[in-house]
Amino acid sequence: MGTTQALASRGGAPVRTAPFPAWPVFGELEERLVLEALRSGKWGGVGRDKLVEVEEAFARLHDAKYAVSVANGTIAITLALKAAGVGPGDEVIMPPYTFVATATSALLFGAIPVFADVEADTLLLDPERVEEAITPRTKAIVAVHIAGAPANMDRLGEIAARRGLALIEDAAQAVGARWNGIGVGAIGDAGTFSFQSSKNLNSGEGGMIVTNREDIADLAWSYANAGRVREGAWYQHENVGWNFRLTELQAALLLAQMTRLGEQMATRERNASLLDALLADVAGVCPMKRDPRITEHAHHLYMFRVAPELARAAGGKAELVRHLQAEGIPAASGYVPLSGNQAVLAEIGKLTGTVPTFDCPVCDNACENEAIWLTQNVLLAGEADMHDVARAVRKVTEAL
Ligand SMILES: *Cc1c(COP(=O)(O)O)cnc(C)c1O
Repeated sequence: MGTTQALASRGGAPVRTAPFPAWPVFGELEERLVLEALRSGKWGGVGRDKLVEVEEAFARLHDAKYAVSVANGTIAITLALKAAGVGPGDEVIMPPYTFVATATSALLFGAIPVFADVEADTLLLDPERVEEAITPRTKAIVAVHIAGAPANMDRLGEIAARRGLALIEDAAQAVGARWNGIGVGAIGDAGTFSFQSSKNLNSGEGGMIVTNREDIADLAWSYANAGRVREGAWYQHENVGWNFRLTELQAALLLAQMTRLGEQMATRERNASLLDALLADVAGVCPMKRDPRITEHAHHLYMFRVAPELARAAGGKAELVRHLQAEGIPAASGYVPLSGNQAVLAEIGKLTGTVPTFDCPVCDNACENEAIWLTQNVLLAGEADMHDVARAVRKVTEAL
């Protein structure tokens, strides 16, 4: 136990003032490949070089047979759901502890999000709650690998198979993650990724669908390419599709960023393990539980939980986060429950005639009182910086 020091938020000296690493990380390779794309004159359309290379490399990275690039992570979920056979009015079970896009990607084509609560110690979709949420209208489950931690794909896969449901992985935060040694994405019927600027693999905007199912790959490609078929003629539109393609300049950025991914993942893993050990020693603070079947964690976020008494003593979780920020730690409060989002609920009401209510107390409590985030760039810092984070958490929690 340290002696209690004055909190920086109350005029004391902060634990640190140095910034954490900037994001994105880039250099000459990005410059060279973007210039190559520029000079090739093939900036969009079909028949490109770098885009094909990215898709092949990405499929390999995730042990998937097929990868289909698309404009962003939101539309990746939409197209994966549609390609897996989900239609308007079909129910899609998903967790409420996720980015809004997990729900709006379904609502975009009239599919109905149904929220099933998360597990308290992982904040990942709880398979038991999924079972309870299944109705005759259920068509799919979306497992979200939040923070870069794969959800329980063994149990979810078993439920999906037994109940005849499609299983889609929203792996927007989980590039490079592995479950039982297998890349996430194609463990279910399909998986989707985002290359939006905050994500661990970044081309400003962008997305990818991976799958081992040829039918899903072909349909998703067609939907993203104006309904064309891969070997068909330019004006041969066999499906109703749109243009959701990536540009060649984005593909150039992705190729360059992919060369950095392995080392960045190793750094995040090392620092996350260190933080887990350091925070486990702080009273009232609990690192997230990690399932041993997670053989690679993408650590898009570093999440930890505080005892509800601590948030209460601070006058709310937001205040606790503000104390940490004053100490020089870029902590964040994170999501508010999607199951309570009025716009999402109202849209479901328009589609079904009834505005639903969802009972997700574990998610509500995590958002309100417990979950605190650090973003992935914090984990790209050095060992001494992780000690600063732990010192700040200890200082704040002891002073409350
Ligand atoms: C970022 C994100 C998305 C959406 O990706 P965009 O590329 O921003 O459309 C979807 N789901 C989750 C969990 C995300 O974090």
